[in-house]
Amino acid sequence: MNKIIKLFLIVTAVGFLASCSKPDENSTSSIAHETVPQKIYHWKLVTSWPKNFPGLGLAPERLATWVKEMSAGRLEIKVYGAGELVPALEVFDAVSRGTAEMGHSGAYYWKGKAPEAQFFSTVPFGLNAQEMNAWLHYGGGLELWQEVYEPFGIIPLAGGNSGVQMAGWFNKEINSVKDIKGLKMRIPGLGGEVMTRLGALTENLPGGEIFTALQTGRIDATEWVGPYNDLAFGLNKAAKFYYYPGWHEPGTTMELTVNKKAFEGLPKDLQKILTVAARAVNQDMLDEYTAKNNAALKQLMESGDVKLRPLPADVLEKLKEVSDQVVLELSETNPNAKRIYQSFNEFRGNVIDYHKISEQAFINARKSPE
Ligand code: CA
Repeated sequence: MNKIIKLFLIVTAVGFLASCSKPDENSTSSIAHETVPQKIYHWKLVTSWPKNFPGLGLAPERLATWVKEMSAGRLEIKVYGAGELVPALEVFDAVSRGTAEMGHSGAYYWKGKAPEAQFFSTVPFGLNAQEMNAWLHYGGGLELWQEVYEPFGIIPLAGGNSGVQMAGWFNKEINSVKDIKGLKMRIPGLGGEVMTRLGALTENLPGGEIFTALQTGRIDATEWVGPYNDLAFGLNKAAKFYYYPGWHEPGTTMELTVNKKAFEGLPKDLQKILTVAARAVNQDMLDEYTAKNNAALKQLMESGDVKLRPLPADVLEKLKEVSDQVVLELSETNPNAKRIYQSFNEFRGNVIDYHKISEQAFINARKSPE
């Protein structure tokens, strides 16, 4: 008997709810409004990295997961590794023309389209990760970046930072500036221009092509990221000398690019979810590198055939001198570049002054006795 009553109550309740959910043409009741199914957005995100590559490739995957969870499934982002939908170095174009709604890459890859974009990835002897994030989010950097990408119909967001990188893997020792002459090296961005001026033959290869190029001798040297990522590619099996510090990439910002029309087509709450998730991913990548690089370096050193070397002081000095010249020349490329340079340079000067008595003074004070 009880079962029958229960069944009756359930049937009645379902019937009542169903009648409520039918939108009544004459009714403006909120119940009718709320039951209209919400639109689900299906987006594509293309990247310059192998699918699920540590750090770089995991960041867009996390973005997709977090956005899906926060939006209760209303914004689904499918992540593509390099070459799955478009080649690694065509991410910018794909987002610009709307082939994909989003991209994850590095701004210095687009120097052929907008040379000043390089300020928003990394500048040799420029800003470290902490300083870069500060300039972008509290120093006017992000607004300048958005202006640069506006003509391409793209909205840029910071999408991760590697921290200070390594100078790279070399099959030849660098004992003086002369050793750079004739060196065939994979190194992108402004760092590549600096090495070119010192006589190196530089090129930019997508990450996935580096190991083979180094192993076969097509190149003598490469920079990639740091221990965590370099170990993932097994670069220690293709070169012996591992040089530091990453003068050319002191805190590289990865970019999340969003097709402007697609972004503007999202409801306001999904726009906010996306931008806040990007901010979270940006910090998360740095946390991941900071945690993983230590163990990865130990593993590389224990592999037995790696020689860890600092770049000689006079080589670093020359690199700095040429870098300053290259960055100054970049600032003269166009009016945008000049404004960005002024903002970047002023911020850099101020932060260096303060960090002398804060971060730097602390790290000096903390160093273990030699
Ligand atoms: Ca790099």
